[in-house]
Amino acid sequence: MPLMVQKYGGSSVADGDKIKNVARRIVKARSEGNQVVVVISAMGDTTNKLLELAYQISAQPKDRELDVLLSTGELVSSTLLAMALEDLGHKAISLSGAQAGIQTDSSFSKAHILRVDPKRIADELKKGQVVIVAGFQGVTQDRDITTLGRGGSDTTAVALAASLHAEMCQIYTDVEGVYTADPRFVPQAVKLKKIGYEEMLELASYGAKVLHPRAVELGELYNIPITVASSFVDKPGTIICKEVSMEIRNKVRGIAHDTNVAKVTIIGVPDHPGIAMSIFEPLARADISVDTIVQNASIEGITDLTFTIARSELTKAMSIIEPISMDIGAKRCATDSSLAKVSIVGTGMENTPGYAARMFRALYEQGINIQLITTSEIRITCIISEDKVRDAIQILHKTFELDAT
Ligand code: ADP
Ligand code: ASP
Ligand code: MG
Repeated sequence: MPLMVQKYGGSSVADGDKIKNVARRIVKARSEGNQVVVVISAMGDTTNKLLELAYQISAQPKDRELDVLLSTGELVSSTLLAMALEDLGHKAISLSGAQAGIQTDSSFSKAHILRVDPKRIADELKKGQVVIVAGFQGVTQDRDITTLGRGGSDTTAVALAASLHAEMCQIYTDVEGVYTADPRFVPQAVKLKKIGYEEMLELASYGAKVLHPRAVELGELYNIPITVASSFVDKPGTIICKEVSMEIRNKVRGIAHDTNVAKVTIIGVPDHPGIAMSIFEPLARADISVDTIVQNASIEGITDLTFTIARSELTKAMSIIEPISMDIGAKRCATDSSLAKVSIVGTGMENTPGYAARMFRALYEQGINIQLITTSEIRITCIISEDKVRDAIQILHKTFELDAT
């Protein structure tokens, strides 16, 4: 019997009726002759509510405690879905990430899956059960509960699909697929029939939250086709897989934006060997990923160093950076957390000049100032003011002819 992994996101299980709707969809997949493993997110905005609660109690809650707290959201939805399935006459069992054998490292709040021991899931499937796994969570070797980062249920789903050798992994959400830009920001955005892992990974890593970046990475690594579709309508979605035709390669495929951006500038840094190391090594040790790094040419042995990080990590990063900048003799630090990234992505840009110039002109004509620029072979990213992000995506969508015709 073919095995499929289906994942339903928070908006698909936001209330009792929606959970019952998901249960009916699972019954349909069963009646078509499939074994089904379901990965489920927390109901609606439960994760945000739990976070708010934590910060009402403490300004700096411990990561370990936060992870246990946040993992409870998915326990609620998974148990309710199991009840809904039993009511429809189908045997179902809910499992936490730990019970499902998802073992992670101990990087609380952004843990990586190290391995999956699928024995318990396989045993339950043999008994004819629908297995419902709480997404977004795992367990360390020391039995601490971890979470995989916001949006991490997608990664749970692809990891399970890989370890159970499932035919494919279906991600059901509140949009009908992967679009050329976030359809909430660009009404003319077009649904893509197919997109390769490489382009999807770049879009997801630069803010297209329709898929968690690590889910795409795992999909590529284990060659699992991933479909993204709506849980509310029965329409074909987007397939993320290896093959993309030459014709499709030859253009910008999509635009991503991310508002979880903060900029840190260390002003008046002495320019001598070891400075970058003394700043970035402690950030790496604290598990803070740094994105764009720009160091100005030095004047009389003094320079400025600017880099970006996730806005959600700014407080933690500054508690590390401020004492270091004193130690190295810098003048002062400045931060800005009202920025956003907009990125154009497409394998067609590889080795083709002109895309960056077109992007910069479009933003200039819209009166948008570019603060920093970063690129990869298939992506160009501009860091701009957050309040200009909607205008920026819309004009870029038009400039690169992605609008629906
Ligand atoms: P879920 O709770 O189902 O995981 P998410 O909110 O994490 O859903 O992801 C779906 C959302 O991703 C959509 O509602 C949409 O606003 C946003 N999104 C951002 N970029 C894109 C894109 N390129 N295509 C589709 N949706 C996108
Ligand atoms: N509930 C988690 C979040 O809101 C994980 C997920 O939905 O994928 O980020
Ligand atoms: Mg999501």
